[in-house]
Amino acid sequence: MPKKRTKKRVFNHLLPLKRTPILCEFMKNIFQFSGRLNPKFDMCKNLYFIRMCGCGQEDCATLYLKNRRKWKKELEGMEIFNTNKGVVLLHFEQRGHFKLEALDYVAYPYKTEIERVLIGDFSKPTQEEKEALADYFRELHKKEVSATSVGGIELIEIQG
Ligand SMILES: [Zn+2]
Repeated sequence: MPKKRTKKRVFNHLLPLKRTPILCEFMKNIFQFSGRLNPKFDMCKNLYFIRMCGCGQEDCATLYLKNRRKWKKELEGMEIFNTNKGVVLLHFEQRGHFKLEALDYVAYPYKTEIERVLIGDFSKPTQEEKEALADYFRELHKKEVSATSVGGIELIEIQG
């Protein structure tokens, strides 16, 4: 694999999550939190970053990703959970596509890393970025939702 050349080609190619360690760690933790995916699944090896949501809203950190392989049938679909730090929706889509919908929270901890990477800066995570990641999961808990509307999506049922 020609490692050096990926730097300038980030906009045209899928970017493996091993190049974005904060996001990779976030994904591991959020999957663990949701209890959805086999913990043996290696995020950093299997998932690729495609693009960020372009809506421009400060409290949105939605990302489009892709798995190397298509998802197992039983995984396809969507999971929503509301937390004290935003609403997260995991969309397992066709052909291995994956959408991490992250709404209603301004400080999703991978945002600065993604912003760096998109301008070609693949330096190691800063101390602030690592701390932001740890902080996010430190007191994260699920919130009950009865019926509210977030980003046009009706949240009716939350597990856990
Ligand atoms: Zn958005």
